[in-house]
Amino acid sequence: MVFAHLPAGYLIARAVMQRTGPRPGLLLAGMAGGVCPDVDLLYSALLDDGWVNHHQYWTHKPFVWLMVWLLAELLGRVSPRRLALALPLARVFLLAVLGHLLLDTLTGIIWWAWPWVDQPYTLAGIPDRFDTPLLNHLFHWTFALEMAIVALAGWVEWGRRRWGGRFA
Ligand SMILES: [Zn+2]
Repeated sequence: MVFAHLPAGYLIARAVMQRTGPRPGLLLAGMAGGVCPDVDLLYSALLDDGWVNHHQYWTHKPFVWLMVWLLAELLGRVSPRRLALALPLARVFLLAVLGHLLLDTLTGIIWWAWPWVDQPYTLAGIPDRFDTPLLNHLFHWTFALEMAIVALAGWVEWGRRRWGGRFA
């Protein structure tokens, strides 16, 4: 998924804020986490000539992010006062990263069991029905889901601007 990552991160942050209340930076952390794993596209395009599926890089490995989350929680326990502001941001960021990986699993492949099992997993996958990957993507049902996520995020933001915090 290409278009849904940023709005999905937005929605995750908004959902968290429904429980915790608004906090500075949470929305930005969610949106950054929603797109963060795809920074490897730059590496893939510039240094790997696009030969390697970017989902094979560490930025798309759930285990790596779960270890980062574990480290963040441990640091939060060691120094709770210092990380009182940063830990909630890290949690939302990492939640959005995992949301990104779940969405990627719908249309692509993700190594969920790595490093124990070196096998990619996909939920739907996109079959090659057309000559161009873009057309395959546009005419697959997951694209409708992607647009629904974009629309939902737009609707939530519109409602917030119109009715304020009572909306979502
Ligand atoms: Zn991705």
